[in-house]
Amino acid sequence: MTQGQQHDQELRAAARHFGRRRFLTVTGAAAALAFATQLPAAGAAAAAELDARRLTEDPFTLGVASGDPLPGSVLLWTRLAPRPFEPGGGLPARRVSVHWELARDERFTRTVRRGRATAHPEFSHTVHAEVEHLEPGREFFYRFRAGDWTSPVGRTRTAPAPGDRPAGLTLAAVSCQAYHDGYFTAYRHLADEDLDVVLHLGDYLYEYAVNATGGARAYTDRTLPAVFNRETITLEDYRLRYGLYKTDPDLRAAHAAHPFVVTWDDHETENNYAGGTPENGVPPEEFLLRRAAAYRAYWEHQPLRRPQLPEGPDMRLYRRLRFGRLAQFDILDTRQYRSDQAYGDGWQVPGPASEDPARTMTGAAQERWLLDGWRASGARWNLLPQQVVFSERRDRPTADFKVSMDAWDGYPASRRRILAGAAAAGVENLMVLTGDVHVGHGFDIKADFRDPSSRTLGTEIVATSVASGKDGADRPANHDRLMQANAHLKFFNGRRGYVTVALTEDSARADFRTVPYVTTPGAPVTTAASFVTEAGNQGLRPV
Ligand code: FE
Ligand code: CA
Repeated sequence: MTQGQQHDQELRAAARHFGRRRFLTVTGAAAALAFATQLPAAGAAAAAELDARRLTEDPFTLGVASGDPLPGSVLLWTRLAPRPFEPGGGLPARRVSVHWELARDERFTRTVRRGRATAHPEFSHTVHAEVEHLEPGREFFYRFRAGDWTSPVGRTRTAPAPGDRPAGLTLAAVSCQAYHDGYFTAYRHLADEDLDVVLHLGDYLYEYAVNATGGARAYTDRTLPAVFNRETITLEDYRLRYGLYKTDPDLRAAHAAHPFVVTWDDHETENNYAGGTPENGVPPEEFLLRRAAAYRAYWEHQPLRRPQLPEGPDMRLYRRLRFGRLAQFDILDTRQYRSDQAYGDGWQVPGPASEDPARTMTGAAQERWLLDGWRASGARWNLLPQQVVFSERRDRPTADFKVSMDAWDGYPASRRRILAGAAAAGVENLMVLTGDVHVGHGFDIKADFRDPSSRTLGTEIVATSVASGKDGADRPANHDRLMQANAHLKFFNGRRGYVTVALTEDSARADFRTVPYVTTPGAPVTTAASFVTEAGNQGLRPV
């Protein structure tokens, strides 16, 4: 039995033991306990060691990654999985010693740091190496070694020193990569961009079944195993699914090229869940077990630091990163703590239930953390990487309009508190970065979305999907209706791709990069449109 299967069995046993009613109140603790038995104790490794020299197949099939850059530190990631489509990745339940190396140059002639990390079977043989005491604002190259095997080389960057005023910062924002909807061609192009950091805004994977031919990829040269042809529920399912996604060469190229800062949306767990409430009628205690499995697999497979390690169904994903005095990133989690969607979710006419001031998108603690962080910021640009559309988005220009109950439109009181908090904190240059809707958008954030003459408080850049939605179209069927209905909506494009944002002291420039198709590989990338907003003079202007 693999670690994942064993874990799933333990959770089911815990659920039976506590009984449904009582279990409801102790689920968090029970799930945390079930997971805790999986954690290797500090200093005393639970599993025996496998001599890495006995690895007869390349264990670095899932590539390398780095993430969450700090001024003096980077987080390096890899996973040992000689056979990623098998439970356990084709390795026995033993720990493996892995060496890492960080250098100033790609050929590793100027090595600045070396170290050793343990790939624990309890964490799917993933490695999360935090390399400290590095020079700020510098580019580095890294690689791993296990036995006779050496990983591909990754490139990363530390953040600038806290007091620094870097001349510029260029980021890319991506979201929504349904493997079964198409190729990750956008990532191939993103890997070639000159970037400081990539922000992943959620839907890194989808829980839905992937058939033998990879859905819209329509493989003719390979057959995916049946293990992917079902919805992900258990820890083993989620781990295997990350394995499938990370075998994509374009995704691996993007991770190797740039540090990533990731946050999730719904599909890493389940479509449109809200806090502890599942999409469908599954009992909440069962859903929390699923959430615990999904969160754990997410942490294992992302370049995340130790403070983000989940405890059962809880994971502190919201966090703050600074790039000198130029930019502060407050990375939100709008899934884990939100109130349930009003009016049964979907597009609905707003009303008393959605406008209830008690409703929250962030939870009280995260909201407080955000507003406190803004008060202490002092950064030129305050960026808010998060998941769902922040600006009002009406579906039609008539009085009977509907809005999405899953987006901030379904939580307007929460949005008002955030905007009031930004104003009170003296945040001048606010830019919200969003994913989720599988189209590119540019919004002006208005003090009153229903009054076009009201003050513009910031801008919102919505990154289209990498693959979700298949090929798409430059002008989707609802293009004109949405543009008419929302005067503050400055851009709408329905192709796949990503967005780059170049920040300087004076301005922010957004380039919406799109590919014309994803259901066959090899599409070129072009810029669909570019916009600039000036520091101290918010509002998107086409360039
Ligand atoms: Fe999505
Ligand atoms: Ca989503």
